[in-house]
Amino acid sequence: MAEREVDFLIVGGGHAGFACAQALRDAGERGSILLVSREPDPPYDRTACTKSYLAGRAEREDVLLGGRDWPREHEVEVLVRTSVLKLAADKKRAALSNKDVVDFGAALLATGAMVRRLRVDGSKLGGVHYMRALGNADAIRRDAAEADHVVLVGGSYIGTEVAATLQAAGKRCAIVMQEDVVLERTFGPEVGGHVQGILEDHGIAVHGGEEVEAFVGEDERVTAVRTKSGLELPADLVVVGAGVVPDVQLARSAGLELGESGGIAVDARHQTSAPGIFAAGDVAEIDSGVHPAGRLRVEHWEVAAAQGRRAAAAMRGADPPPEEIPYFFSDLHDWLSYEYIGPAHAWDQVVVRGSMEDGAFSAWYLNDGCVAAVLSVDRPEDLERGRELFDKPVDADALADQAREPAVA
Ligand SMILES: Cc1cc2nc3c(=O)[nH]c(=O)nc-3n(C[C@H](O)[C@H](O)[C@H](O)COP(=O)(O)OP(=O)(O)OC[C@H]3O[C@@H](n4cnc5c(N)ncnc54)[C@H](O)[C@@H]3O)c2cc1C
Repeated sequence: MAEREVDFLIVGGGHAGFACAQALRDAGERGSILLVSREPDPPYDRTACTKSYLAGRAEREDVLLGGRDWPREHEVEVLVRTSVLKLAADKKRAALSNKDVVDFGAALLATGAMVRRLRVDGSKLGGVHYMRALGNADAIRRDAAEADHVVLVGGSYIGTEVAATLQAAGKRCAIVMQEDVVLERTFGPEVGGHVQGILEDHGIAVHGGEEVEAFVGEDERVTAVRTKSGLELPADLVVVGAGVVPDVQLARSAGLELGESGGIAVDARHQTSAPGIFAAGDVAEIDSGVHPAGRLRVEHWEVAAAQGRRAAAAMRGADPPPEEIPYFFSDLHDWLSYEYIGPAHAWDQVVVRGSMEDGAFSAWYLNDGCVAAVLSVDRPEDLERGRELFDKPVDADALADQAREPAVA
């Protein structure tokens, strides 16, 4: 056991944790920084797991944030395969799984999120996977090499992205989900239906309105997915994307206040209920100054990174940079890329600008006449305008008319 002291302790080596370390050094901070991550890899781009890395178009080295040498060159100590097991918030002391006890000046909790597991028969069969980390992508790649039929459970980002990547690699993919069309919960039936059409055009079978009852197997390996309606889809590989839950184990045991979303409650400076302890990224529920929801927890990498940078400033006692409107992108192989600002928690009207058929359009989600979100496919200027008009009342007729500029009503 070693007792040691650091100026900055960062728990979690995801986008938020890395961006925090980077922002501290970029700001000229010379104090000691220790980043502790329970994963075997140093901080990497998690979003590649379903895209370039899964497709074999990027290697591990390509997806490391800042590159392999960044921590050494910037004197940031990174401990991988190590967990922070306990946090004594009042003493500003952390106990690590390598038995070190670390006293810190300020700490960031960037512990991210954990996959939601399906509790159905056959969950333990070989060939049934979840997707959160590079190790999951490695295992899926190995099984995919032998697989003909792949079933994706869940029709959101993970399901659609993995389906697109593996179908493009020559596998026969099927999506099974509770929603009627893919991505419906986030983008509604119109945009979701459009995305689904693209997936189906590329041969992906989509089964909506279904609930998985069991994974069926033989010799300890999955052979099919059965739904409650009796549908049975052949499968030698299953990837479940059923959402995530914020990883608040450490925060909860340290007695930190949690928010309504189950994330760690933080103020606009990312300060938790314990002085000197901050939180950012998927795990943090922030007091937002830009989103109409007020309190907000989102699971997008750019948001996590921006929050990590804002928290870094607060940890140094400086003013955080302005909060940005949450932004998200997704690629479905090279068939479709879309960007989104929001998220819209509710909307009563969707106005489409441009043409879905031509593959360049934006969808404006209005709530009570105000912009609640904008999704753009190849119309970056609309997304930019959407940022300016976010949460403001707009003229829906002008939005739909491309000859007119989107403007405040
Ligand atoms: C496969 C996949 C694809 C995605 N694609 C996109 C995309 O296209 N666009 C987009 O915007 N977003 C995407 N996301 C979401 C995005 O990756 C997350 O929003 C982002 O990773 C959140 O970063 P974070 O740092 O908050 O948490 P995470 O990236 O989850 O990192 C948290 C880290 O903390 C570690 N940890 C937790 N507890 C401890 C502890 N006690 N001690 C030590 N370490 C601990 C975890 O093991 C993990 O390594 C994707 C997510 C996944 C899983």
